[in-house]
Amino acid sequence: MRQKKYLLPESEIPTAWFNIQAIMPNKPLPILNPATREALKAQDLYPIFCEECANQELDTVNEWIPIPEPVREQYAAYRCTPLVRAYELEEALGTPAHIYFKNESVSPAGSHKLNSALAQAYYAKQQGITNITTETGAGQWGGALSYAAKKFGIDCAVYMVKTSYNQKPYRRSIMQTFGAAITPSPSMSTRAGKDILTVNPNDGGSLGTAISEAIELAVSTPNCKYTLGSVLNHVCLHQSVIGLEAEKQMEMTGEYPDIVIACFGGGSNFSGIAYPFMRHNIQDGKKTRFIAAEPSSCPKLTRGKFEYDFGDEAGLTPLLPMYTIGHTFKPASIHAGGLRYHGAGVIMSQLMKDGFMEAQDFAQTETFKAGVLFAQTEGIIPAPESCHAIACTIKEALKCKETGEQKTILFNLSGHGFVDMGAYDHYLSGEMQNYVVSDEELAGYIASADALNK
Ligand SMILES: *Cc1c(COP(=O)(O)O)cnc(C)c1O
Repeated sequence: MRQKKYLLPESEIPTAWFNIQAIMPNKPLPILNPATREALKAQDLYPIFCEECANQELDTVNEWIPIPEPVREQYAAYRCTPLVRAYELEEALGTPAHIYFKNESVSPAGSHKLNSALAQAYYAKQQGITNITTETGAGQWGGALSYAAKKFGIDCAVYMVKTSYNQKPYRRSIMQTFGAAITPSPSMSTRAGKDILTVNPNDGGSLGTAISEAIELAVSTPNCKYTLGSVLNHVCLHQSVIGLEAEKQMEMTGEYPDIVIACFGGGSNFSGIAYPFMRHNIQDGKKTRFIAAEPSSCPKLTRGKFEYDFGDEAGLTPLLPMYTIGHTFKPASIHAGGLRYHGAGVIMSQLMKDGFMEAQDFAQTETFKAGVLFAQTEGIIPAPESCHAIACTIKEALKCKETGEQKTILFNLSGHGFVDMGAYDHYLSGEMQNYVVSDEELAGYIASADALNK
């Protein structure tokens, strides 16, 4: 019988995260204080984040950062995750390509997000923090953090983008089951939320607004810290467990990936699967291609601009050097809520600028078509976000069919779609629409970032 799954025992859970900042030919540009335009130091981040996370954020020196043993112990509930050869998808496509996927959907939270949530909750506990807060879009990050907070015995308050709060009630129930308190955003509980609701009482919210609210709560509440589920360097660092395991598992297959693909929201699952392989491009002359798959309705890598911008809509965060379509960007209500963020993480942005990775964008219906084929061939219903990675994989595999090349493609299955069946319903009913931002509209949003770079 042909081998389908490549499994590693718990003892192979990585003992250190891989910090790509240490080996980047061009280090990321500094994060700036918007008032003084001076480079931020880790201490400047302490009011918002746990100290250890703030230190990791700006660590451009240490290539390997030890994973605390209590975090590894929690990882063991679902790690090492399987690497799977997608034979039946290959056969359905008739492609000579070999397709592998790393299955991060097996975590208790249903996605890769738990890899960082556990680390962040642990560091908060270590520092004597009693409350952590965050925002959530699709509800994946909130679910992961709720579970992680419970595991380390701290309280968790989540601001959930209002459209998702209404569209995805079961995601809310998951967070509540794990013991978290959930507030729909924009809310009247913060100044940032009040400002928006005063202008438009029906505002459906955005990830940017929810971030503003959570940060405001963290800085105004004693013993409360903010956590973020994507974009930031320390989050991407924690996700490196995905690629480090995948590297060993690919070795077991006897192949090495020619192409590595992940969907791209803020970039954390992309970083996780990509960086451990990308280090061999940087250090050992490997020629793997790394492709970020983003939605056409939120095209920060394919149509954005590399410049300083705020990480949130209200402009409370430091200035980040990144590919952005402007912090005022209002994304369409696509189902892949986790991909509706206006910017790309600082590290990915620099790597993109330097040609180490590329990006492709996909229309919503194309991604669900890919997700349905994947469900029928491989037996896992993917998260709407993950469908983007699958659409990209299919596109590359079909190119191989044309050229007859037998490439090895590895993609990250960032999560499952069990709580997103409403989205599949929408697709299967034939009513799903695609949203493409016009150049004019995009230029208007990007102007909000341009104004910060004069
Ligand atoms: C949040 C999320 C994403 C997007 O976030 P990244 O930080 O870009 O990885 C992708 N897939 C799933 C399942 C998610 O929950």
